[in-house]
Amino acid sequence: MATPLTVYLPYNLGALRGGFEPAKRGTGAPAQRGRWIIVQEQNLVVVPDGADLRLPEGEAPKAFGAALDRAHWLGTWDGTPCWVAGLAADTAIPEGFARETMVPMRGTRLPDALLTLGGMAMQLLWWESTSGHCPRCGNPTARIENEWGKRCPDCKYEHYPHLHPAVITLVRDGERVLLARKSIWAPGRYALVAGFVDNGESLEDAVAREVKEEVGVDVKDITYVGSQNWPFPSQLMVGFVAAYAGGEITLDREELEDARWFPADALPTGPARHSIAGFIIEHYARPA
Ligand SMILES: [Zn+2]
Repeated sequence: MATPLTVYLPYNLGALRGGFEPAKRGTGAPAQRGRWIIVQEQNLVVVPDGADLRLPEGEAPKAFGAALDRAHWLGTWDGTPCWVAGLAADTAIPEGFARETMVPMRGTRLPDALLTLGGMAMQLLWWESTSGHCPRCGNPTARIENEWGKRCPDCKYEHYPHLHPAVITLVRDGERVLLARKSIWAPGRYALVAGFVDNGESLEDAVAREVKEEVGVDVKDITYVGSQNWPFPSQLMVGFVAAYAGGEITLDREELEDARWFPADALPTGPARHSIAGFIIEHYARPA
């Protein structure tokens, strides 16, 4: 069996099937308007079109007023420039447009391409909202030409959009898998152990530590299976499977409400298909 690929998961550039050219490689923003990626919190503004949801197109939709004046050129998708703008949380959505969540666990109806563009837009807006001042000396920063990076004119510190690596792991033991749940999730829904990589850790070190800390068991044969860019707000999720190596389940009650072994052929409700957690359970829960 060929190894399944996470590259085509939504939020990964691969979901756009090569049709996207990021703006930072370009020479400057085109004068032409194109598609609008308008973000309000974790929602995308779309135009309902029969059963489809599509992006607003053309000149800045006037109904949004000055909210679109400070648009950012994200890049070019299928030959059309894409512009990103953020809407304040309390701005009403004009008639003819609708808000749709970009969060898989909230049951998004957006197609993968729009989730991917929307995810990049959210990260761009997050970066713009957090990079306006130098983290070292506090002075206002300026954009580095043709880059998303910012430079401090005073102390010359430069920084670039931050991605935070996190590991996510399916623990297997023959015909059974270890799944966990947080209390904030929908009742009955289980997923994988996950956590951020710490200073000094390899990805494998982080897997072993997170599994031990959160559910109390030891693992071995830690194997990388794929990754996903996760824009809530800026994680790079690195996916693994690992073999159970011993120990009893002991919960970290601050992180988890429950964790238990499930037979691979009788799994509980899992994560959405859009997430790497759903992907790993779908492709790796059953013994090879
Ligand atoms: Zn500075």
